[in-house]
Amino acid sequence: MNKSVSIATPSDQAYRGEQPWGMASDLVIEQALTPNDDLWAPIGPDAWSRPLHINTSLGYYVHLLRVTKSGILQRHRHSGPVHAYVIKGSWYYPEHDWIAKEGSYIFEPPGETHTLTVPDDCEEMITLFTVFGALMYVDQDGNSTGYDDVFTRIERYRTHFEKVGLGADYVETFMR
Ligand code: FE
Repeated sequence: MNKSVSIATPSDQAYRGEQPWGMASDLVIEQALTPNDDLWAPIGPDAWSRPLHINTSLGYYVHLLRVTKSGILQRHRHSGPVHAYVIKGSWYYPEHDWIAKEGSYIFEPPGETHTLTVPDDCEEMITLFTVFGALMYVDQDGNSTGYDDVFTRIERYRTHFEKVGLGADYVETFMR
């Protein structure tokens, strides 16, 4: 039987040319919300980060933040922009009158300082964050108490992946 089909398939319509020399390879993570604990690095009490995409030349990272406690997580000032999409649960900044709910998209402008807080009625929140630059942790008056950026995140992921047996270099899976 002839297996050829007469209708156009998507591959019939594919670009035929070459891709540019030097282009990074694509990155596909089929199960971003994996239940595999080995892929979620602890970043604090009842808080985990699942890396999806790490870029050192532009200084950003894309990750899923999962938190299973309520209350204040931390207060920070942003040196770069942040894009967020809430997948589950909710959170808010007491500096603003809106609540980031399941399905919400949020843009955090560079320069902003806010206090990430999970409401009491939220048992688990999961949010996709694309973070450029640094989160500078600050006290209520803006005095710096520490920071995180793509490089401190990489170190955190490397330590975790080594500990669970994947090897520190597993972090390279996510780097483009
Ligand atoms: Fe923020």
